[in-house]
Amino acid sequence: MIRILVPCFNEASVIEKTYAELTEIMQQDSRNNNYKYELLFVDDGSKDNTLSIIRQLAQQDYAVKYISFSRNFGKESAMYAGLKASVEAEALIILDGDLQHPPTLIPQMIKYFREGEDQIVAKRDRAGENLIRKRVSQLYYTIINKMVDVTLEDGVGDFRLLSQRAVKEIVNMGEYNRFSKGLFAWIGFEPKIIEYQNVNRVDGESKWSFSSLLNYGIDGLISFNNKPLRAIIYLGLFICGMSFLYILFNFIYTINYGVSTPGYFTTIFSVLFLGGIQLTSLGVIGEYIGRIYYEVKQRPLYIVRQTNLNEQEVE
Ligand code: UDP
Ligand code: MG
Repeated sequence: MIRILVPCFNEASVIEKTYAELTEIMQQDSRNNNYKYELLFVDDGSKDNTLSIIRQLAQQDYAVKYISFSRNFGKESAMYAGLKASVEAEALIILDGDLQHPPTLIPQMIKYFREGEDQIVAKRDRAGENLIRKRVSQLYYTIINKMVDVTLEDGVGDFRLLSQRAVKEIVNMGEYNRFSKGLFAWIGFEPKIIEYQNVNRVDGESKWSFSSLLNYGIDGLISFNNKPLRAIIYLGLFICGMSFLYILFNFIYTINYGVSTPGYFTTIFSVLFLGGIQLTSLGVIGEYIGRIYYEVKQRPLYIVRQTNLNEQEVE
């Protein structure tokens, strides 16, 4: 059985359309290639009637499964829930509920899967996006790939097919601070890439604001290694070195020419500059401690309120 995982948060306006498109494609492809499929909708605590629509679909169509959370836990949690409930599927395809991930690519993904690929990734171009955002993300990926151990690719999102063993590896990583993009890269299974043209949202609105993108960027940096901590050490050493030279210079100067009082600029500069560096460094260290804090609590990533999957699957 091949399962399609669709995380949904307030998608009432498009979810039926998504269902209709997925069903059309999947019915045809599963008949032609003789396999079973299921659509698993994970309702991430939607406040509109996304859940009631999904439940209605489930009544009409046996292939529709759903998990519904007790509140909004975020897309990462929704995906994790879906992955965890799908370790029995021979393959899992993750796609957004807002039709930004064209379901028409699915048959091609399944074809590659049958040829033995473990990870097939759909990569979008950035057409239709404004130039600033395009440049900023390019820059971000150039920088981040220098810093993290895994290679993160631009335009690659969560839209992908994972084989059963890839799903199991992702599920094994039960960490609380989830940065899926990194996790997908971390497990390896060199992805096969299919390119597609960027699609704008059909309806509803994106849940990404500029600040959430910025936070996502920082998450990407910090959740994957400790290089920022290393960078602080180097920065500290560099500043120590510079200070030493400056002090030496001043010492020699004072011995030769005596004390000359004016020093307002250097004093203010060093106070502000060092203060800034110290605060930033504390922030970086704090980020890591914060993550440890959440990780050691061992809280569940989500709480299920309703589902039509059987108990062992959701567990
Ligand atoms: N989503 C979710 N939980 C959230 C936010 C989003 O499950 O807290 C889902 C949403 O329903 C959609 C997908 O994640 O299916 C991508 O969300 P969105 O379209 O807002 O992001 P974008 O496409 O702009 O990256
Ligand atoms: Mg979207």
